Amino acid sequence: MKKLPEYFGSLVFGPTVMRERLPAETYNSLMRTINEGKDLDIEVANVVANAMKEWAIEHGATHYTHWFQPMTGITAEKHDSFISPTPDGKVIMEFSGKQLVRGEPDASSFPSGGLRATFEARGYTAWDPTSYAFIKGNTLCIPTAFCSYGGHALDKKTPLLRSMEALNKQALRILTLFGHTEVSYVYPTVGAEQEYFLIDREMYNKRPDLIFTGRTLFGAPPPKGQELGDHYFGSIKPRVAAFMEDLNEELWKLGILAKTEHNEVAPSQHELAPIHTTVNVATDHNQLTMEIMKQVALRHGLVCLLHEKPFAGVNGSGKHNNWSLNTNTGVNLLSPGETPYENAQFLLFLVAVVKAVDDYQDLLRVSVATASNDLRLGGNEAPPAIISVYLGSELTAILESIELGIPYNATIKGKIQLGTSVLPPLPLDTTDRNRTSPFAFTGNKFEFRMLGSSDSIACANIMLNTAVAESLRQFADVLEGASDFKAALNDLIRDTFSKHKRIIFNGNGYDDAWVKEAVENRGLLNLKTTPDCMPYLISKKNLDMLVSHNVYSSEELHSRYEILLTNYCKVIKIEALTMLDMTRRHILPAIGAYVSEIASMAAAKMAVSGNIDCSYEKSLLERLSALMSIISSRAEELEEKVNKVHGIQDVTEQSYGYRDLVIPKMSELRAAVDEAELITAEKHWPFPSYGDLLYSVR
Ligand code: ADP
Ligand code: MG
Repeated sequence: MKKLPEYFGSLVFGPTVMRERLPAETYNSLMRTINEGKDLDIEVANVVANAMKEWAIEHGATHYTHWFQPMTGITAEKHDSFISPTPDGKVIMEFSGKQLVRGEPDASSFPSGGLRATFEARGYTAWDPTSYAFIKGNTLCIPTAFCSYGGHALDKKTPLLRSMEALNKQALRILTLFGHTEVSYVYPTVGAEQEYFLIDREMYNKRPDLIFTGRTLFGAPPPKGQELGDHYFGSIKPRVAAFMEDLNEELWKLGILAKTEHNEVAPSQHELAPIHTTVNVATDHNQLTMEIMKQVALRHGLVCLLHEKPFAGVNGSGKHNNWSLNTNTGVNLLSPGETPYENAQFLLFLVAVVKAVDDYQDLLRVSVATASNDLRLGGNEAPPAIISVYLGSELTAILESIELGIPYNATIKGKIQLGTSVLPPLPLDTTDRNRTSPFAFTGNKFEFRMLGSSDSIACANIMLNTAVAESLRQFADVLEGASDFKAALNDLIRDTFSKHKRIIFNGNGYDDAWVKEAVENRGLLNLKTTPDCMPYLISKKNLDMLVSHNVYSSEELHSRYEILLTNYCKVIKIEALTMLDMTRRHILPAIGAYVSEIASMAAAKMAVSGNIDCSYEKSLLERLSALMSIISSRAEELEEKVNKVHGIQDVTEQSYGYRDLVIPKMSELRAAVDEAELITAEKHWPFPSYGDLLYSVR
């Protein structure tokens, strides 16, 4: 077997293969396109396409596809084979520059939120050379952006690339002021930690709720959940280890830097963290990782659940988005120096992020809003729906001293003494773990923890990049006009901190007192549900900002509003219908069968002697019969609400209906069913229990 370094990236048409296979001139010209955004001419594209095709065929590919990310949140592909007929009835394998650079999938069924009438089906895909082509199965996949014929972005990649450009532009203005003219490109890096559950495939197949909705809609709590904390970082079970091994290999072949894996808090929950890379590539890689996780799981008789809250009562899954800013000269702009106080440039970028998160807390919240993530945010395992920034005590103290205009005493405040004279004082670790913060500074990066496990990381990073670009734009406007740069810089850091310190919170985000403090004293937003936050996506303040940086047009934003809310409604409707189906066709008949079994038992006993004690049967029959009535009437009520809400035309109103009328009825129905599950014989219960699902993989 080949060693890891040999097969790492073997299925990627990356720089090494390119250098080997492309004429030097073509290679250089392509690199200029990749690194400097220069236009690519068709001659160069032809040469690249041909080399790509040869390489792909050698690796077993017969097809190619433009791989893109429509607004469904998953990836899309339409495969074309390389074949082209010849006059003698044979075929040759062809792939031209034109086919590489541009595609026209008939994409009329992707959501466009009104951007493109269905009769005008044509959207087109355009090659994104900054994310390398790769081979999946028998197909050469070419990462592409997806736009309408009129040039509107129909995907998540296009706005992401635009947001990177906006951030680059403004960050360069700042770096120029600091004299860093050697820097020509600034880009965000992201490492997305991915949480997921693995359950047994056989069990999964018996749960219509998992099949149709990705989460359990019913299920009584098992005797043991996560309370002992014995799963977190526990030893990895053989079946899971085999899965991880296989998964890593697949990811490594695709050049994905899978690095860390461990068991998470809930039983059957795990995490995979890759090494960070450019946000655009990190986004593509995360999409691929999710897809490959699912595929590899199936090969192991498992199912990988990426839903944010597959099981009630135990932790759900998120995705931690570690974000930082890098220069093409290899400097991390969010990395403090030895003495952070002296590092004014670092502090400026730091407060730029703080300001961005405060000014655009609404947009960041919107960027992670989905029906499934609503089930998790604010729960005990996930950050609250209120956005705040954790900076740690040292950085906060430094900024406070700047605000007060007093010198920061690094020798006292910033160092911790270890209580023995043998060890020198160590710098206080600014990364001390605050797991409850939704947006935490962790040493040289920020960790945004509100993302859902199944979501594309594109949206969160689009908003983050652009919000920070906006802070930097305002800073550059001030500093470029300043007569005394140093004084202006000091004032800017001080004033920004003063103005935005309300968003900084180093305490326990799960505490109820924080919710009160945040909302009542600090005026921070607490947007609990998707319908609560969606209006902020198109509020004037946010729309103007996103449009001014050319990240979204007004039409594009409105289309996203439409799509996200429609999706919210659809998801809840599917869940409600699944519950009704499970209740009526499986659960009530199952309880009924058990009831009649108990009744027969009582009748048989009575037939032997009228004096035999049947109090057990009687009380159980009474409880179960009562529950059956409750369940059936709650199902009726749920159905009525679904029908009512389904009839609402306006999507905003409809989303309120699902949230306020349908979801509460779903909870009521579930409560009664879960109660019945606990007293129904296992052999009658039609679905594997939580205990079966959570503890079946060994
Ligand atoms: P933890 O679970 O403690 O948060 P992990 O090691 O699981 O830590 O994940 C940390 C993530 O942060 C990794 O994906 C890592 O590559 C990423 N990371 C580290 N440095 C940077 C950086 N400069 N920019 C973006 N991400 C980074
Ligand atoms: Mg983390």
